[in-house]
Amino acid sequence: MALSGLQIYKLLPQTNCKECGFPTCLAFAMKLAAKQAELDKCPYVSDEAREQLAESAAPPVRLVTISADGREVKSGNEIVLFRHEKTFYNPCGIFIRLRDNLPLEALKSAAREAADYKVEYVGKSMTIDGFAVEATAGGDAFAAAVRRVLETAVLPLILISSDAQVLEKGLVTAREIAPGVVPLLYAATADNWESFAALAKKFGAPLTVRANTLSGLATLTERVKGAGVDDIVLDPGVRDLKSALALNTLIRRLALKKTFRQLGYPIIAFPGEMADDEGMVSVAATQAITKYAGFVVLDTFNPALLYPLLALRTNIYTDPQKPIQVQPGVYEINNPRPDSPLMVTTNFSITYFSVANEVDGSGIPGWLLVADAEGMSVLTAWAAGKFDAERIAKAVRSANMADKITHRKLIIPGHVSVLLGELEEALPGWQILVGPREAVDLPAYLKLWSPS
Ligand code: SF4
Repeated sequence: MALSGLQIYKLLPQTNCKECGFPTCLAFAMKLAAKQAELDKCPYVSDEAREQLAESAAPPVRLVTISADGREVKSGNEIVLFRHEKTFYNPCGIFIRLRDNLPLEALKSAAREAADYKVEYVGKSMTIDGFAVEATAGGDAFAAAVRRVLETAVLPLILISSDAQVLEKGLVTAREIAPGVVPLLYAATADNWESFAALAKKFGAPLTVRANTLSGLATLTERVKGAGVDDIVLDPGVRDLKSALALNTLIRRLALKKTFRQLGYPIIAFPGEMADDEGMVSVAATQAITKYAGFVVLDTFNPALLYPLLALRTNIYTDPQKPIQVQPGVYEINNPRPDSPLMVTTNFSITYFSVANEVDGSGIPGWLLVADAEGMSVLTAWAAGKFDAERIAKAVRSANMADKITHRKLIIPGHVSVLLGELEEALPGWQILVGPREAVDLPAYLKLWSPS
C-alpha cells in the first residue's frame, strides 16, 4: 500500500543534509509520496527502511534514460493520465530511423540533415532527439552504419535488430566512437529475450520488450527484470491505430491506477509502421505523442511532418497551470528609432510571438512593450484584472519609454479598447491608440503610422 508523505518521512534519516536535492527530508518525503522523486537520491536510507519504502517510493512509470555525449532523453515518471490533471514531465523523444542498407555516404548526409534541423517555437528551440539505427543485414554493415551515424552526429540512439549478436557489434562500435553512449536496445521477444537481456545487462543499456498482448508484455518484463535488467521499454506490437490507442491507454492506466509494476514502463511507437501515406503517419505520430509514447520513431526526416509534431510535443508537455511566458520589458524589432511606433501586449508566449512575428515580418521598426500579465493572453488577462490601465502604465514607466521615444503614442490591442479612457488618465500627456484585434492585421495598421 502506498505510504503517506509523513509515513515516509519517519523512515528517512531526518538530518536535512540536502544531498537528495531537496531542502529537507520532509520535502523529499512529500516528493516520494507524490512519485516525483526516486529513493536512490538519498544515500543515507537504511537497508531496513529501503525495504519498507521501495514498493511505495518507486514511480508508477519507471524513468528510463538513454544518452550520448551529455545529451539525454528521459521517459517515464509520469503520474497522471490526463495532462489537465497536473502535467506530463518528460517529453517523448523523437527519433529518425536510418537503415544500414543505405550507402554510407547517403547515411551520412541523411544523418547530417536531420541532426542540423532546428526550429524555434514560442521561444523554444526544437530539434530531433536522436537516431534509430536498424540492422537489415549482418553485423558488419550494422556496425559500419552505427559508426557513420555517430561520426556524423553524436546523439542518443536506438539500436534495432532481431539478432542480439548483430546488436552487440553495433553497441561495441557505438562505445568506441562515443564511450559514454547509452542506447536503447530493440527488441526482446518471447523467442529471444534471454540473449537480449544478457546483452542489456552486460552493457547497462535499457531494453525494449515487444509482445502483442498485455499479458505477453507483462510476462516478458518479469523475465527480463528477473535476468537483471531494470530499465525496460514496452512495444505493444500491434500496428493499427485503434489497437495501439487501446493498449497504450491500458498500459498507462494499469501502471498509474493499479500500480501494476509489470507494465510500469515507457512505451515506444513506430508511426510509419501503422500507415502507408504521410498524412496517416502524421495521425499515428500525433496519437503516439498524446497517448502515451515515450519514444517515437519516424521512418523519414521530413520537416513538414516533424515541425507540427515537435510543436505538439511542446504543448502536450507544458504544465497547463503555468503558461509559457516571456520576460516582461521592451523588445526592439527591426532596429526601431525614437519616432517608431510603440505597441503593448502581454507576456503570454504565444501572444508575444504572434505580435512580434507580424511586426518583424512587416519590416517596420517598432517597440514592443510586454507587460507582466502573469503569462495570460490579452483578453484572459484583462478579464482577470492582470492587464489593466495601471499595469500598462507601470510597464511604460519601468521601461523608461519616455526617454527612448520622442512621441507620446501607445498602441493597445483592439481587444482592450475599453481601457482607452483609464489609460489616458494613468498616462497623462500620452495619446492612446486602439490597434487591431488580431496580430495578423498589425502590418497594415502600422503602414499608416505617423509619430506626429
Ligand atoms: Fe534527508 Fe536523505 Fe535528503 Fe539528506 S539526502 S535531506 S537525509 S532525505
